[in-house]
Order: sequence, then C-alpha cells, then structure tokens
Amino acid sequence: MKENNWDLKSILEVYNSPLIELLYKAATVHREHHNPREVQVSTLLSIKTGGCPEDCAYCPQAARYHTDIEKNDLMSVDQVRFAAVNAKSQGSSRLCMGAAWRNVKDNEDFDHVLELVKEVNRLDMEVCCTLGMLTENQAKKLADAGLYAYNHNLDSSEEFYKEVISTRGYQDRLDTLENARAANLTVCSGGIIGMGESAEDRCKMLMTLANLKPQPESVPVNALVAVEGTPLEKQKVVSIWEMVRMIATTRIVMPQTTVRLSAGRTQMSQEGQALCFMAGAGSIFAGDKLLTTPNPEVTEDMELFNILGLLPQKAYAKGEKPGIKTEEASTEKERSIKWSRPGHTIPANVEYTAVAKEKRALSKNENKA
Ligand code: SF4
Repeated sequence: MKENNWDLKSILEVYNSPLIELLYKAATVHREHHNPREVQVSTLLSIKTGGCPEDCAYCPQAARYHTDIEKNDLMSVDQVRFAAVNAKSQGSSRLCMGAAWRNVKDNEDFDHVLELVKEVNRLDMEVCCTLGMLTENQAKKLADAGLYAYNHNLDSSEEFYKEVISTRGYQDRLDTLENARAANLTVCSGGIIGMGESAEDRCKMLMTLANLKPQPESVPVNALVAVEGTPLEKQKVVSIWEMVRMIATTRIVMPQTTVRLSAGRTQMSQEGQALCFMAGAGSIFAGDKLLTTPNPEVTEDMELFNILGLLPQKAYAKGEKPGIKTEEASTEKERSIKWSRPGHTIPANVEYTAVAKEKRALSKNENKA
C-alpha cells in the first residue's frame, strides 16, 4: 500500500495481524526511517487550565463537568520561561503549550500566546501549541512568532467522534490541520484509545491521518486516563497489547512520522513501555503532569531510557528552527469563520452535565449556610 493511499481494509489487516509479526514489522519500518535509539522528549505545559466550553467526554477541563482540576488563567511570560528552562534542563527538546479553548480568538490572549511562543523559541526549543481550532491567518501569526508545530487531535474516527463530542465537528478539525499546514507549521495530530471505540474506529482515524498530504510529522497515541466526574470515568484501562498494536499500526502506515507515546503511561509498566518503543514510538511526553492528568516523573523516564539504551533527541533534529519574523506579516483581515456546533445529544454528556450542576448548586448552598 502506498503512502497517502491507505484503505480501511489494508489498515485493519495490519492492525489485526499476529502481534509478534506486527511488532517485528513495525520495528523494521522504524529502523528504516528513524534512529531507534533516539526518543524525542516533549513537555506538555497547560498555559490556561480548565473552564473550557466544549463537552469532550474524556476531558476534566470541560467546564460543564464536575472534576477537581485547579483552574488557571493564562500563564505569564516569566512562568512559561521558567517551565521551559526547567523542561530543557531535564532533556525536553520541545515545549507544547496547551490552552483549554474551543478556538483561537484574535484578542489580547492570543497576542500574549504569540509572546510566549517567541520566548520559548529563543531558548532553542521546538515550540508547539494546542489552542483549539484556528484559522489560516492565526496559524500564520503563530508561524511568524517562531512556532514549529501545531497540535490538534482527531481523537477518533469521524463516526465515533460524534459519540464523544457534540459541540464541534470533525471537519473543523481537519480544516484546522489544513490551516496549520498552509502556514508551513508542522502538524501534530493523533487520538485516544480506550474510550469505547472499536478497532475499526481506530483504523479509520489512522486512515484519515495517513491519507493527509503530507502525513502529520507527529502522531500522539493516548491511552484514555479516565477522570472522575467526566462521562468516561468508568472506562476500563486500555490493555498494553492494544496500545502496542495501535502504535505498531501507526508506525507502519505513517513510516516517517514521529509516533508519540502520550497519555496513560502511568498505567503502563516499564516492560509495556519498552514494547511501545520496540513498536515504533519515537517520542514521549515528559513531566509529572500531562495538562491535568498524571504522568511518570522525569527521573523514572531517565531510568527507563538508561535501561533501554535510549537517548533524548536534540531539538530540530528533523527540521529547521523557524525564525521570529519581526515585521507584521499577517495582519490582513480574513473572512470570519464560523466553526460548527453540531449540538446532537450525547446522553452521558448530558447526564454528567446535570450531575455537575447539582453538585455546584449543593456546594453553593453549603457555603451560604
Ligand atoms: S479536550 Fe480541549 S476542547 Fe475538549 S473540553 Fe478539553 S480543553 Fe476543551
């Protein structure tokens, strides 16, 4: 099967092949296209936490659910610089800044994010942002500020996406990836397994990603971390075998892509993670938190790297460092984009929203008493 021309049947065949064969094939593809000893270490920093208007069923940052995350306003330049320097000193070559927004708005907050991007770029780290949906003009502004990558996950197949999120549409996600690409940003897009989707949903998502032209430079594969208070709180932990299968299949259908072993690593043993590296994972997220969910300590990761003989990859090993453009290159007005709101009913999301409302009302009354 040719790159960018994958059909579902072929991807399912890869996904369902005997695990040992799949692992061997994926490890071979990985060696043909990447240095298997190098692992790109990224730090994911939540620069604005919680209060998100969306209803993503897996997310503790959705304002409508009752979770115990600590909400935070946009971080200052000093706070981000401090976190970036710390991440760099611990081996991270990339800082990915995440804000719990539905989409980027042309306002002071976005101008502030542009300053944050410039600041991290000056530290010679690869800078990535995940800020929700964005227009081409906004993507260009980020590129001019020195952004290297934009993350926007597809999460799952288009069909299953509708069972998890009702406040935005799949096509908007694809348009956002196209906008990032049009601004010459590298694209990071992947998904989550363990939300109740089928193997076919997983492979459909991979098909969509693998048929993008060009394929994304990074694909994060997340195992759901079921957070109390979210509609997916009762989902079982995804088995390591499914994770290995997903990583190996991603590796095979997108040979040049960096496959990132992302959320859910605290649920995995060292041996399980080692299998993921064998299967072609070439990147991890470091730091004791992934936005709001737990992640292994850096010292644990370095211990694992030592055991496995892995080395953190240097920044810009796979692309040039973008310069910071000082002239205002992207000020032209663009047509106003209306992002969609499908608004269909997802019973679990409605139920958890109602429960959260009750809990909030109860605690308000208790505080008054
Ligand atoms: S995943 Fe992103 S968009 Fe969805 S609720 Fe969480 S922060 Fe908002």
